[in-house]
Amino acid sequence: MTAVDLRSDTVTRPTARMRRAMAEAEVGDDVYGEDPTINRLQELAAEMVGHESALFVPSGTMGNQAALMTHTDRGQEILLEEQSHIFLYEAGGAALLSGCQTRTLPGDKGRLAPEQVREAIRDENMHFPRTGLLCLENTHNRAGGTVLSADMTQNLVEVAHDAGIKVHLDGARVFNAACAQDVDVTKLTAPVDSVQFCLSKGLAAPVGSVIAGSAEFIQECMRARKVLGGAMRQAGVLAAAGVVALQEMTRRLEQDHENASRLAQAVAEMKPFSVDPDDVCTNIVAFDVDPEWFTAPEFLHSLRQRNVLANPVHQQRIRMVTHYQISSEDISDAVEAMHRTIGELK
Ligand SMILES: *Cc1c(COP(=O)(O)O)cnc(C)c1O
Repeated sequence: MTAVDLRSDTVTRPTARMRRAMAEAEVGDDVYGEDPTINRLQELAAEMVGHESALFVPSGTMGNQAALMTHTDRGQEILLEEQSHIFLYEAGGAALLSGCQTRTLPGDKGRLAPEQVREAIRDENMHFPRTGLLCLENTHNRAGGTVLSADMTQNLVEVAHDAGIKVHLDGARVFNAACAQDVDVTKLTAPVDSVQFCLSKGLAAPVGSVIAGSAEFIQECMRARKVLGGAMRQAGVLAAAGVVALQEMTRRLEQDHENASRLAQAVAEMKPFSVDPDDVCTNIVAFDVDPEWFTAPEFLHSLRQRNVLANPVHQQRIRMVTHYQISSEDISDAVEAMHRTIGELK
């Protein structure tokens, strides 16, 4: 029996059509700009997110870091939500690669308020670092896949732009955000100066992310990607799967959201756990574990014996992620396994 793997949407395997497209991809040396499949992916991606140009990169982390390197100068300060991926999970890249300090702001379920950002932007003063960039995250991973609306995005961008500050969107799962709100993704991506999104999560491609922005910005990002070692050669075999991901996989995210919603409703009924199902609007179900019962690692260790996999966020919090390889029956199986595991550990 294959496991019900709810650890992350990164575990998705490529579809049959992706594998065929990869096998048949026309390729060339992309460092010379001669890979037709990568060029096609980049054109398609730029158009879909409403920007002039786009660049294929090996990972979301490289996409974010290349964008930070391009937008900022050494000694500047980057404004971020305190639980953001760029702050927590990118190995200190902002300091290491861009020479910037990070200033974190507490969000409401991952969402920053415009006034908060306005107050955090530095005045010109010899003693202060200069604010170099505002980063947003949509959907917000640590907050449990919460979404930023088009209006909220617009308002945050306005505050930054009024102060002459650029905005980068970590949109690893921005197609989930668009799908959940039933809006065209450009409503969430066009207002920002740059966006990074992942092909290798819910969209199920095996490798890769895309950065999008102005032609001038993307030209500079190519330098950053080069220095990070991310300029690849006949990587059209990878980009081919990305093209299929963009053409065929953005609409089906709705199924993942339905599965997550069903899972959240079941989890809300389980005594040791607490989650507000109304907070679960995309493919991530994050819930707290009552310490009177057990810790998250204890529970997950036992759940694994029943072939259901998930990751702890910390000692008393669990995250489960739905994706292309999780069916509606898998959710029923996972819920039953969770009930049995709770009974066993009680
Ligand atoms: C996964 C993720 C990334 C990074 O993607 P990798 O391809 O794993 O480097 C960046 N931001 C967010 C919010 C993510 O969830």
